[in-house]
Amino acid sequence: MHSDLWIEEKFSDFLGLRIKVEKVLFSGKSEFQSVDVVETKGHGKMLLNDGLIMVTERDEFAYHDMIAHVPLFVHPNPKNVLVIGGGDGGTAREVLRHASVEKCTMVEIDAMVVDACKEHIPQTSKDLEHPKMNLIIGDGVKFVNETTEKFDVIIVDSTDPIGPAQPLFGEAFYQDVYNCLADDGIVVSQGESSWYAMDIQQSLLKVLNSVFPNSYLYSFSNLTYPGGLWSFTFASKQYHPCRDFNPERVSESGLSFDYYNANLHTAAFALPSFALNGLKGL
Ligand code: SAM
Repeated sequence: MHSDLWIEEKFSDFLGLRIKVEKVLFSGKSEFQSVDVVETKGHGKMLLNDGLIMVTERDEFAYHDMIAHVPLFVHPNPKNVLVIGGGDGGTAREVLRHASVEKCTMVEIDAMVVDACKEHIPQTSKDLEHPKMNLIIGDGVKFVNETTEKFDVIIVDSTDPIGPAQPLFGEAFYQDVYNCLADDGIVVSQGESSWYAMDIQQSLLKVLNSVFPNSYLYSFSNLTYPGGLWSFTFASKQYHPCRDFNPERVSESGLSFDYYNANLHTAAFALPSFALNGLKGL
């Protein structure tokens, strides 16, 4: 953190994103990572894990709309949803807006992230005490290996593949995810940057394709992630993310969104050519 109150996220060893900070609200170090919450100028409150931007109040809706509503509007009746990671609470908040959802289990490894967000970022964490929430502090890798529950939708809202998040990008984890998904289950995961992390995208899609019949990358624009263009992966035992999507369900839901809409749902799966070329043949 800079003494003149700018935060710089260093991405790889050649790119930095600087954001002006008004005030440091929380700074701690857990057994897993450093956790900071700051008040920024122009982007609202911001959570950083290990110095990497996780969410800002200004643009978190883009990430959370696209990670949650894409699978939840493809699955015809999602009742039991699992979120791995997601400690800021934004993904769970969006999951709980779907009337069909009866239970949202969230397995976050780091209590410090949850506590810091509960205290300082109510915009994302406001529904973590919701009666349908089942919040577990623990390792998502261990959870999917041991649970006997079946989930309709699993959302992997993880940090980059370093530290405890590394196995969340591996084959053993996705084999367990497959096993604890219902027969028509869907898994969506944080899929990194096509600009700067094509190698991670290639390896994640390779893993998904080895476990699921098909997998897809879809993208969205995020103001405060390096490169702006970011992505998620979609894999299912049964459903295609566009052919099995009925846009009428979005209007019938009565929900309104700041980022997601029915046209964007389908458009998000149309990738720029450089990304398609990078993923060819996987
Ligand atoms: N939107 C975010 C981003 O920048 O990609 C992700 C948000 S959320 C804060 C990511 C969370 O995943 C972190 O709080 C981290 O502690 C959690 N996490 C990492 N590895 C995990 C694991 N093995 N099991 C459960 N949670 C994990």
